[in-house]
Amino acid sequence: MLRTIFTSTGNFYLTLLNLLYPQDCLICSNRIHEAKAARLCGPCNDRIMRYADTPHWSFTENGLAFDAAYHVAGYDDIVKRCICLMKYNGKQDLSKILGGLMSEYAEKNMSFNDIDMFVPVPLHPVKFRERQFNQSELIAGHLAKRFNKKLENKWVKRIRYTPQQAGLSREQRLRNIKGAFLVRQDADFTDKTVMLVDDVMATGATLHECAKTLKSAGAKKVFAFTLARGN
Ligand SMILES: [Zn+2]
Repeated sequence: MLRTIFTSTGNFYLTLLNLLYPQDCLICSNRIHEAKAARLCGPCNDRIMRYADTPHWSFTENGLAFDAAYHVAGYDDIVKRCICLMKYNGKQDLSKILGGLMSEYAEKNMSFNDIDMFVPVPLHPVKFRERQFNQSELIAGHLAKRFNKKLENKWVKRIRYTPQQAGLSREQRLRNIKGAFLVRQDADFTDKTVMLVDDVMATGATLHECAKTLKSAGAKKVFAFTLARGN
């Protein structure tokens, strides 16, 4: 019986872990039987609206500083709750699932050959202290590891504490975030192609400001890669 489970799932370690320490799904609370990444059951995982077969990207429009932005899944209930649980309830494990979704999409639709490094959108130190981690950095870390790229998480700083962007118009968001990022003096973005990573892109104001800062520091191209496109 066990042998069948192990061979059928093809993931001995996670199956064993699930048998020894059964976990409940963070979304529906049902017991997890599948040997997938921890914390989300198979049915909930399957309900995520993946864009893998219908690539979603938006090219530079309306003067945004990044060259293209790629999005992986619909900002539906499950993705929203996963992001909320990760950011506000300290469920850092979920970054593995979300990073996995982004890898899945990238394997099908993207090439990172020209990418020099993955850069997570940084959090302001005050927010970082509150949360204890930066969700974008965790996700970018999974991607960098998976695609064997450099994770650069020290060169860009968030120097201005900005109020929540939700509820603001595009123009207000662009104003609100202006001057929020700074590139460290010892950083070297000259002629580099950068993949900025964030959890959600709404109007793109934050990614725009970050990309603008990187380009002022010499970056040749800046792409944005987010889990979802929100509002
Ligand atoms: Zn579930």
